[in-house]
Amino acid sequence: MILHRSVKLAEHFYCYTWEGRGNNCNTILWPSVLRGERPHVLIDPGHIRDELGEPCFDSLVQAMDKDGFKIEDIGLVIATHSHPDHIEAAESVVEKSQALFAWSREEDEFYRTMGKMFFQAFGAKAPEVEPFFYIKEGDLSLGAKSNKLAVKVLLTPGHSPGSICLYLEEDKILVSGDVVFAGSVGRTDFPGGSPSLLRKSIDRLSQLDVEYLVAGHSTEVGSIIAGKDMVKRNFYAVKMFV
Ligand SMILES: [Zn+2]
Repeated sequence: MILHRSVKLAEHFYCYTWEGRGNNCNTILWPSVLRGERPHVLIDPGHIRDELGEPCFDSLVQAMDKDGFKIEDIGLVIATHSHPDHIEAAESVVEKSQALFAWSREEDEFYRTMGKMFFQAFGAKAPEVEPFFYIKEGDLSLGAKSNKLAVKVLLTPGHSPGSICLYLEEDKILVSGDVVFAGSVGRTDFPGGSPSLLRKSIDRLSQLDVEYLVAGHSTEVGSIIAGKDMVKRNFYAVKMFV
């Protein structure tokens, strides 16, 4: 059962938007960007199963497989933040692929102190993930020289203390995680959340030149906002909520 929709936005950018009824995040794949045998980068693998028992992770594996991408060929897993609906399946991906794992130092500290408790609250097992490196604010360059993917990382706390957003300058694509959605913003009532920090983070994001905003979750409005004007209007609208 495939409950993800595959959307290719650029040569090295696929979005697997969650189309199930329960709660799960959208997952991003940057295929064939790393050197070596496992060239794919996966961002936010999501739940294994959601609260309705839908097989989120199996669906993702099948959706990727349909596009010709194997979970075993993932070399790096990046998490925008540590909430269960974004990283529950991270351990499974790492087990299947030996992929490295990375997120921000701030999120790692939060996860090891408070973040793991989220999983208990939802009756899920917190994945054992060890960051191989920390994702820092600034430039993150992946891949071989001839085939480099240049990513700008923005540390955007507010929804979670170490949330990151990923901006692909060349394709003008913003991976916004749970900071901003189509017509909505991330919750700030979880532990570690802060409305004032979220506002600052959204202000920063709104200054980027964005053609596609790829949100961490789908809303009634959608999951991907396409077109500069639509992205601008969305930022204008969501700033009224924070
Ligand atoms: Zn979240």
